[in-house]
Amino acid sequence: MKRILTGDRPTGRLHLGHYVGSLKNRVRLQDEYECFFIIADLHTLTTKPEKTKELKDNIYQMVLDYLSIGIDPKKSTVYIQSQIPEVAELALIFGNLTTVPRLERMPTLKDVMRDADIQVPSYGLLGYPVLQAADILMVKANLVPVGKDQVSHVEVTREVARDFNRIYRSTSEESKPTSEVSSQVLPIPEVLVGEIPTLPGTDGAVKMSKSAGNVINLSDSPEEVEKKVMGMYTDPTRIHPTDPGHVEGNPVFTYLDAFGADSDKQQITKYQELYRQGQVGDIEVKKYLVKVLNNFLDPIRENRARYERDPELVERILKEGTAKTRTEAQKTLLEVKAAMKLDYFV
Ligand code: ATP
Ligand code: MG
Repeated sequence: MKRILTGDRPTGRLHLGHYVGSLKNRVRLQDEYECFFIIADLHTLTTKPEKTKELKDNIYQMVLDYLSIGIDPKKSTVYIQSQIPEVAELALIFGNLTTVPRLERMPTLKDVMRDADIQVPSYGLLGYPVLQAADILMVKANLVPVGKDQVSHVEVTREVARDFNRIYRSTSEESKPTSEVSSQVLPIPEVLVGEIPTLPGTDGAVKMSKSAGNVINLSDSPEEVEKKVMGMYTDPTRIHPTDPGHVEGNPVFTYLDAFGADSDKQQITKYQELYRQGQVGDIEVKKYLVKVLNNFLDPIRENRARYERDPELVERILKEGTAKTRTEAQKTLLEVKAAMKLDYFV
């Protein structure tokens, strides 16, 4: 069975952006792939090395988010990155297969530094994509479902895997062209971006993001959803409800498209037409969006409430998932070191 690896940094609750970018694909592909979902706590150190106190609770809440949207621990493996020391060793090895300028050119680096108010990147922050390559290749993942901002990172993973396979292929295979090498140590993973590659924020910013504070969380109450939606950015060119409005680039309509059920489609199309013609006000459309979002979130809330009553389950899922992943990590590390001829004297 082919494998998936993807995950999230435990910096807070998961939101609608995570859902459309990556979570939806994860739930959908659980039967087709052997899935590993990483809670990437080591990656939080790259921007907030001092904020380790909240991690434990954030991890717990993140597992509740996972379970409530339909990640099934009987099918999929959820694990904690920092409890797998092998990943650090792999990252150390992979750090030699990519250059500093390559990492300095990552488009995400600039954004992250701006958001986190960092003037000079640490060695760890620069190495973010290298650690991610170690996560992905450690379980030999074939597919990585992520939001659009992560595509450039997976590209680094692909380069690392290709370089590794080329540099350390066994002597018997050296004469063959790379394409014919059957026994590659590391598979080259594909990236899978969600139907909506980047969900905008409630403030109209390009990306809904924890650090920007423009999110609707999967765990928000109906009242919180209502408050956030009624305060949403819409079409700045439209002053009166009778002015013709823009649907494209208007996050209210983007959310309707993303979260409307099939039974909402007709009404959504109607609102789009009326909005363009200046025949419906922002308030009416927003009220409709509140309903749509709460209908989408209600079953998630019910699941969450059920799992909240069973904290031991969360602990068990993490323990078992981490143990299983560690076995895979140890296996891959042995293969990697053998391919490198680093398996001497032991
Ligand atoms: P932070 O602001 O702390 O960076 P984040 O909200 O960007 O947090 P991450 O943990 O960096 O979340 O991302 C986890 C996954 O969710 C990644 O695959 C990312 O691409 C995806 N993702 C995050 N925000 C969005 C969004 N607005 N639209 C689509 N995908 C998203
Ligand atoms: Mg991010």
